[in-house]
Amino acid sequence: MHEKITSEVFQIGGPYFTSNDDAAVYLVRVDDSAALIDAGCGGDPARLLDNVRECGVICENIKYLLITHCHIDHTGGARALIDILDCRVAAHKLDAVFLESGDNMATAATWYGRTIKPFKVDIKFEAAREEIDLNGRVITAIHVPGHSPGSVVFEFESDGKKVLFGQDVHGPLHPVLKSDQNDYIRSLKKMMALNADILCEGHFGIIRGKDEVRRFIESYL
Ligand SMILES: [Zn+2]
Ligand SMILES: [Zn+2]
Repeated sequence: MHEKITSEVFQIGGPYFTSNDDAAVYLVRVDDSAALIDAGCGGDPARLLDNVRECGVICENIKYLLITHCHIDHTGGARALIDILDCRVAAHKLDAVFLESGDNMATAATWYGRTIKPFKVDIKFEAAREEIDLNGRVITAIHVPGHSPGSVVFEFESDGKKVLFGQDVHGPLHPVLKSDQNDYIRSLKKMMALNADILCEGHFGIIRGKDEVRRFIESYL
């Protein structure tokens, strides 16, 4: 099961798509190459890969697993995918440390009654904006700390629309997650200024239209 968002962007994971614990997983396809945005909790990796194939992508052609942030509902499935796929993993360095060390508190694994399976992050974002090249097209990672120290959103232009992969734009904030309210407010404003046409959220589905996206983000200010 998948949902087509643009001709190159699909939702392939999340409740109904894979398993109820999974936050949304998105696929960006450029010709025969693809990138995954987040990995879900890992409830059903076989079904996730079936959904990739449904979108016309051969799993061997998944070049990247792009991680928005370290929480287990977005990363618990990463290890199983990395073991199967020949892809490079990218995350912000401030969250990569929790994934590589298997920090069950900072990744919220303990909240879910799980343990995080640690994995290596190949590309560690450090700057405010960094670019990933997918078959000649750019996916931009933008640092938006607050919910977690190394949260990022990914931006991709497709069919003339600016698509933002926001995932946990909404929060929540909690000391266990090392959240920072001042950073969070600044990051929400930064995301609003991006003026995206489509927001692919982690838990609230796909929000379409510049006004709707702005209203959604603004509602958390
Ligand atoms: Zn989160
Ligand atoms: Zn989440």
